[in-house]
Amino acid sequence: MGAHVSVPMYQRSVGQRYRLLGQRCRGCGRVNFPPAGACMYCGSRDGFDEAQLSGRGKIYTFTEIAPGGAPPEFARQAALTGSYIVAIVELAEGPRVVAQLVDCTFSDLQVGKEVMMVVRRIYVEEGVVRYGYKFRLA
Ligand SMILES: [Zn+2]
Repeated sequence: MGAHVSVPMYQRSVGQRYRLLGQRCRGCGRVNFPPAGACMYCGSRDGFDEAQLSGRGKIYTFTEIAPGGAPPEFARQAALTGSYIVAIVELAEGPRVVAQLVDCTFSDLQVGKEVMMVVRRIYVEEGVVRYGYKFRLA
């Protein structure tokens, strides 16, 4: 089962997908990513200010996805590359994101290694090439 994102929803989220645009909670001051209606730390709904994340972080954990394990939107990529690496990256500002790690092999990786964001092609859906963040070793 894939995670469908409609074209309008994708277009509305370009700031977070291309630039890691998050939000700083006016209640507790912590940075939330991706943006949400309530703060993921304190639950406040008092509002947010735009917060540009640095794109730097470290590997919290990682795994390799074999072609048979790829969700439908990544089946083509898995068929072309054989497998791909997915990590939970802990961003320098605190939030953790799930993203692919690129320009590396599985044996290059270790929990805690520094990574930085790059914008890459994610997949094609509804005839639109979707771009978004991935990470590479810093
Ligand atoms: Zn908060």
